[in-house]
Amino acid sequence: MNGKDNKGSIPEKILIVEDSKTLAKYLVRKIQASIENVQVDVVRTYADLKMLLEKENDYILALLDIYLPDMHTEELVDYVLSREIPSIVMTADFHDALYQNFGKKNIVDFVLKDSVASLEYIVNLVHRLIENRKTTVLAVDDSAVVLHQIRTYLETQLYRIKLAKDPVSALAQLEQDDNISIVITDYNMPLMDGIAFLQKIRKIKNKDVLGVIGISVDSQSAAKFLKFGANDFINKPFHKEEFIHRINNLSQSLEYTARLKAFANHDFMTQVYNRKYFFEEGERYFKEAVAHEKQFAVAMIDIDDFKQINDTWGHDTGDSVIKTLAKKLKDATKGDDLVARFGGEEFCLLLKNISPGAAQSFFENICRTIASLHIQIDTEKTIGFTVSIGLETASCKNLTEMIKGADIQLYKAKQNGKNRLEMDIEQIQAQIC
Ligand code: GH3
Ligand code: MG
Ligand code: MG
Repeated sequence: MNGKDNKGSIPEKILIVEDSKTLAKYLVRKIQASIENVQVDVVRTYADLKMLLEKENDYILALLDIYLPDMHTEELVDYVLSREIPSIVMTADFHDALYQNFGKKNIVDFVLKDSVASLEYIVNLVHRLIENRKTTVLAVDDSAVVLHQIRTYLETQLYRIKLAKDPVSALAQLEQDDNISIVITDYNMPLMDGIAFLQKIRKIKNKDVLGVIGISVDSQSAAKFLKFGANDFINKPFHKEEFIHRINNLSQSLEYTARLKAFANHDFMTQVYNRKYFFEEGERYFKEAVAHEKQFAVAMIDIDDFKQINDTWGHDTGDSVIKTLAKKLKDATKGDDLVARFGGEEFCLLLKNISPGAAQSFFENICRTIASLHIQIDTEKTIGFTVSIGLETASCKNLTEMIKGADIQLYKAKQNGKNRLEMDIEQIQAQIC
C-alpha cells in the first residue's frame, strides 16, 4: 500500500428502521463517525419501509426495531430478510421466547437497546460487518457438513468465504489468493493434520497478517494449535454465538494490528510513507532489483523557498502546500512505488521498474505540474510554489548511496536556480551502469 485512496466513491448503504427519532439520530451519528463513506437512511414505520424497499434494494445491512407503531411482530424481520438484507434485530425487552425465536432466524445478531453500552455494541458490530465484507476466510475441513455449517455462520457476518476439503488444496488457495486473512482449520484431516498444515502456514505468514483458528471435537487439540501459532481455538460441535464472537474478535484484532502498522509506517500529516518505512521497503526492493537486473530510480524533492511561504502566509498555509505536494506525488506514482516524507518540506521517491529516460520525463513533468498549481488560501487569493528535484538512476550502489547521489543532484538544482530537475546525464546514456 502506498497510502493510495482505494475507497470507492459510491457509499455503502445502511438502513435503520426505528420509530424513536432520538435513538435513530444517535445511531446515524455514531455509525457515520465510525465508518468512512457510508450512507445511513432511516424509516420510522413499516409502511415507509415497504415503500422505500420497493424503490431501493441496495442496502448492505439493516438495523431493525421490532416494535414499530404499525407493526409489532416478526413479520417485519421476515420481510427484510426476504429482501436479502442482512439484519441486526434491536429490541427494548429481552425474554427467552423472543431470544429462542430469533436465534432460529438467519439474522446477524439480536441485541438489546437498553443502555449506551448496548448502543455502542450495535455501532461496533456495524463497523465489524463493514470490515468483514473485505475479509476473506478460508475454512478447511474434510466434513462437508461442518463446512456447510461454517459457511452459514460466516455468511451471517458478511465474510467472503472460501472452502477447502483438505489442507493441500487449502495451501494452493492460500498461494493463489493473497487476500485470505483468516483460516479456520480442522485437526483430523486426510493428507495432513491441522498442526502440520498450521506449521506450513506459519512458514509463509505470521499471526499478525493471517489469523488461524483451530477446530476439533477433541479439546486437547487446543493447546497444540495455540502452541504452533494458532490465534484461537473452537470446540466442535460449535455453539453458534461463540463461533461468531471468536471469529469477529480475530477479525477485529487483525484490523487493529494492520492499523497500528499503517500508523507506524506513515507520516501523520501527509499520509505518505515515513523515512523509516522507505528504508525498510526500499532496501528490500533494492536487493530484489539488483538480483533481477531491474531498473529503478530514486529522487529527492524539496520545495523551493518554503521558509518564505511560511513567513508570508503562515504555518497553516505552509502545511497545505506540503499536503498538496504529497497528494500530487501519490497521485502521479504507481501503487507499488514508494513516496515518503523525509522531513519538513522534503520528499524521497523510489520508482520501480523504470528506465533512466522515463524517470527523467516523469520528474520533469512533476516540476512543470507543481509550478502550474494554484493553491486557494482564502476566497480571493491563490498562491503557487515550485520544487527542485535531484534524480539518481545508477543502480550499482546501495540504497543509501543512491539517496546521497539524489541529494547531490538536488543541491545542484538549487544552485542552478531552483524549479528544475538535475541528474547525471551519463546515466541516461549508459541506461544501466
Ligand atoms: P530552499 O529553496 O533552499 O529549499 O529554501 P527553503 O526556504 O525551502 O528551506 P529552508 O530549509 O531554509 O526552510 C525550510 C522551512 O520549513 C523551515 C521550517 O521551519 C519549515 N518547516 C519544516 N517542517 C514544517 C512543517 O511541517 N510545516 C511547515 N509549515 N513548515 C515546516
Ligand atoms: Mg476431520
Ligand atoms: Mg526547501
